[in-house]
Amino acid sequence: IVPVLTIDGPSGSGKGTISRLVAHRLGWHYLDSGALYRAVGVAAGWAGIDLDDDGALVRCTFDTQVDFTEAGDGELRVIVNGTDATDELRTETAGAAASAIAAIPQVRAALRDRQRAFRQPPGLVTDGRDMGTVIFPDARYKVFLTASAEERAERRHKQLKSKGVSVTMDGLLREILARDARDAGRTVAPLRPADDAVHIDTTGLGIDAVVERVLALVAP
Ligand code: C5P
Repeated sequence: IVPVLTIDGPSGSGKGTISRLVAHRLGWHYLDSGALYRAVGVAAGWAGIDLDDDGALVRCTFDTQVDFTEAGDGELRVIVNGTDATDELRTETAGAAASAIAAIPQVRAALRDRQRAFRQPPGLVTDGRDMGTVIFPDARYKVFLTASAEERAERRHKQLKSKGVSVTMDGLLREILARDARDAGRTVAPLRPADDAVHIDTTGLGIDAVVERVLALVAP
């Protein structure tokens, strides 16, 4: 049976960065499940589908082809219906569309088997919200990453500043708290840790320290 390491947590907990690095160190495959929801969001935008039209969004999920490829520099690119959509996927618009789409149960069901198909030898590291609870409940290793809202706002602030975007810490913190409440409060797949997940609070920890803690679970 192919080992799976699931890394779930709220946005800004660092799960994307940590998962990628851990997958690289282990030589395992990597699945960014959020990218699938974002890809459907982007494809729906291209098709002019209204975010209130659940039926059309479900059809769009089945029709959207998503491929992950590694570019020459080792960076992961996401190809949506044949078009490189990596940059568009990272936008706030794509994130908002993804979060609306992710609340539709038939969309989640349609993406379930596609996510499970990433379980290939020698192993899989996957990050998201429901990896350890719904998609890979039998995963051998499960991690739940958290960080204080203040720290997550600060990380996002740094990220945006490096891109030349200026925003206030207050505004970011409010946004993060609102998203936490929405993610935890939604009736479809609310964010919660798996019962058997190892919790790691990354507040005040550097990336390398978190990577080492996660790796220690896999190879104690
Ligand atoms: O992790 P990321 O920010 O890319 O995810 C985008 C959105 O997709 C999240 O806000 C969440 O609503 C949704 N999502 C989800 N389940 C996952 C991954 C993402 O519901 N496994």
